Amino acid sequence: MSGAARDVIVVGAGIVGASCAEACARAGLHVLVLDAAGAGGGATAAGMGHLVVMDDSEAQFALTRYSQQLWQQAAPTLPRAVEYTASGTIWVAADAEEMEEVERKHAYYGARGVASGILSAAELAAKEPHLRAGLAGGLLVPGDAVIYPPCGAEYLLERARAQGAEVRLHTAVAAIGGGVARLADGSEWRAATIVNAAGAWAPRLTPGLAIRWRKGHLLITDRYPNWVRHQLVELGYLKSAHGVSNESVAFNAQPRATGQILIGSSRQFEAEHSAVEHHMLTRMLRRAEEYMPGLAGLSALRAWTGFRAATPDSLPLIGRWAGDPTILVAAGHEGLGITTSLGTGQLVADLITAASSAIPAAPYDPNRSYEHATHH
Ligand SMILES: Cc1cc2nc3c(=O)[nH]c(=O)nc-3n(C[C@H](O)[C@H](O)[C@H](O)COP(=O)(O)OP(=O)(O)OC[C@H]3O[C@@H](n4cnc5c(N)ncnc54)[C@H](O)[C@@H]3O)c2cc1C
Repeated sequence: MSGAARDVIVVGAGIVGASCAEACARAGLHVLVLDAAGAGGGATAAGMGHLVVMDDSEAQFALTRYSQQLWQQAAPTLPRAVEYTASGTIWVAADAEEMEEVERKHAYYGARGVASGILSAAELAAKEPHLRAGLAGGLLVPGDAVIYPPCGAEYLLERARAQGAEVRLHTAVAAIGGGVARLADGSEWRAATIVNAAGAWAPRLTPGLAIRWRKGHLLITDRYPNWVRHQLVELGYLKSAHGVSNESVAFNAQPRATGQILIGSSRQFEAEHSAVEHHMLTRMLRRAEEYMPGLAGLSALRAWTGFRAATPDSLPLIGRWAGDPTILVAAGHEGLGITTSLGTGQLVADLITAASSAIPAAPYDPNRSYEHATHH
């Protein structure tokens, strides 16, 4: 046995685990964080860093909105390295059908206190001059933002440390259960609660978690300051990202604080190798060029892939595991874990300390049934 029992062991120092550790330490709990690699090196290092309010379901809205507000509150104190930039999102509508979606989204957000503004075709062109002519318009959501996720995770971990948490990196956990985290060398760490924040690898520690890997590609360009000014997302994204097909791409472009442009993205099930796949990269870039033809003339620096931890209903798994109540799951955040990390960490700390939380945790119960859901 290694040392005295802690209140909480967090397995995983991605942005979700780091946030859980920070919120638990802030609540006065004695926390140990264990990660097989470095901080923020899993999906967190691969992600796009778009902090976005989403409305696929009320539960998704609740967690993304709550988290967005926590990011907004934290923004003034975030170090420069986190690159919090209030760039806002523009949902780009290509045609009249997508303009209907703009109107629906505008009404949905408005009814729930999220500011947004409908852009005509001319207003869209003025805000983003490199978009092609002939688009129908868009929806500007000014409260959305962008961060640099690995530094976000490191910052949260540093905040956890400053509040007493102990962090052990390059320490792989072989098994968890019964209040014990066992390492490969047989050593054991004990805690009242073990938070499984191992992202896409969470089911290896807690078999039975409803997580599938969903691969994504991204590409970053050289520096072209102001070439893209907002996080741009096509509304056709709704048709492709939520389709049932195994492979899809959607136009997504993000201005980085460095002046670089991050271009996404693809979604693939049943592709559990990390290699960049040329057919997917080509499809993704063709889609991006359909929206911004000038992208074809810019220099690309690097492309990479990452794995989203997808659940059947696209909601994360946050809560005690019925099979072993010493395990509290905080995984399955698919394409929204950078955004929802802060809300997740706070919910986890509230569950452990039995504090009332700002939003109900029940929709994210990891033991829920998925009768009416398919991975989408
Ligand atoms: C291409 C792409 C684009 C994305 N874009 C966005 C976006 O714009 N906005 C957004 O909100 N989200 C986005 N996401 C999603 C986001 O990146 C993830 O949801 C988020 O990073 C998940 O964080 P995590 O901490 O749960 O997992 P991870 O970052 O994967 O961290 C898990 C950690 O657990 C550790 N671990 C695993 N097994 C063990 C073990 N046995 N012992 C010890 N440690 C272990 C790993 O080393 C790792 O550090 C994107 C994802 C991808 C792939």
